[in-house]
Amino acid sequence: MYDWLIVGAGFAGSVLAERIANERNERILLIDRRNHIGGNAYDRYDDQGLLIHQYGPHIFHTNAKQIFDYLSRFTEWRFYEHRVLAQVDGTLVPIPINLDTVNTLYGFNLTSEELQEWFAGRAEKVDEIKTSEDVVVSTVGRELYEKFFRGYTRKQWGLDPSELDKSVTARVPTRTNRDDRYFGDEFQFMPRHGYTRMFEKMLRHRNIHIMTQTEYEDVRYKIPHRRVIYTGPVDEYFGFRFGKLPYRSLRFEHVTLDKPWHQPVGVVNYPQTQDYTRVTEYKHLTGQEHPKTALTYEYPSAVGDPYYPIPKRENQELFKRYERLALATPDVWFVGRLATYRYYNMDQIVGQALATFRRINDTVPRGAAG
Ligand code: FAD
Ligand code: UDP
Repeated sequence: MYDWLIVGAGFAGSVLAERIANERNERILLIDRRNHIGGNAYDRYDDQGLLIHQYGPHIFHTNAKQIFDYLSRFTEWRFYEHRVLAQVDGTLVPIPINLDTVNTLYGFNLTSEELQEWFAGRAEKVDEIKTSEDVVVSTVGRELYEKFFRGYTRKQWGLDPSELDKSVTARVPTRTNRDDRYFGDEFQFMPRHGYTRMFEKMLRHRNIHIMTQTEYEDVRYKIPHRRVIYTGPVDEYFGFRFGKLPYRSLRFEHVTLDKPWHQPVGVVNYPQTQDYTRVTEYKHLTGQEHPKTALTYEYPSAVGDPYYPIPKRENQELFKRYERLALATPDVWFVGRLATYRYYNMDQIVGQALATFRRINDTVPRGAAG
């Protein structure tokens, strides 16, 4: 008899397995339908020995020292500040849009103060910022919005930015200085030996039993357990009874090139051309030295594994119906990006899992492992 059956070995499921095993000394069966642990953060060495991220580039960044300290128990870090260039009008320029972006694109020599005025002269007045279009046009105006955001967003989501919640493009700031880092967070690092190694260390415990290539439905009624932590899609758990929650998918094309470098930074975005959204070159992220180089092209898709909840009002309303069911389901805890239908980064998922653990500790009597 297991005390807990945890469905999904990504950040949500793994952090909870680690906490429960170490702090409550209870027995856990951790399963995943994929053939590996780590969820979407899984990384591996390709045929040529290059470390790649199977599900696209994962860069750890957070402002929460507590979350950084927690993960530091399981990995050493490599300092890495992520930089992204966008190919716009045939030129590679920094994104987030900054002083150099505008000066390069338009052949200007503006100062920060002059750029602020330039933006103010182009920004559109929007009474209430609701959509992903509103966020950008009200900051930098329509022309830069169309060059950098409209095409990329349509490709990535299959929707116009005017149909998406403001929170989507609000992830990307606008700057008037020369800061060209993608993230502004205080802690920006990569796990020195990769994410998978970090997960292995997190899950090494006599009370944690791991089964990969295992579906929840296959063990649900066969392997006795007292409680469940479920980190898969919430609509799937309830048999899609209110209809499918939309998730956006991606197809990843991994390529190895017989040359040391391909592009000047870790990621290049393609907002105007190509069917893919972005190209990642992992050696920039990992610091690995190798005569060859590995890239991933991301092709957005309506079908395939669920990667992104789609932030949009009617989707949120449908999710709320499932959430009401979830809250009324005893002894099952719903955690993570798919089960809570939130466009969360890794650090936010770790924070959510640690908060769930505190709630479990406050409400669930301990049952010591046999
Ligand atoms: P997941 O990692 O999705 O884990 C859920 C697991 O549950 C999966 O492995 C799945 O196989 C398993 N599962 C589901 N249903 C079942 C079932 N019925 N039975 C058995 N197993 C099941 N975040 C950042 O902070 N920085 C980044 O740079 C970043 N880049 C990203 C790039 C891409 C392309 C994507 C898609 C996401 C990115 N993220 C990034 C977000 C990050 O991947 C997530 O925040 C995090 O991985 C979510 O963890 P999770 O445990 O909630 O979900
Ligand atoms: N975005 C864009 N152009 C860019 C970068 C981002 O239009 O060059 C928009 C797009 O809608 C994207 C969102 O901003 O989905 C969030 O970008 P982020 O890089 O955070 O996406 P993620 O890494 O989560 O895929």
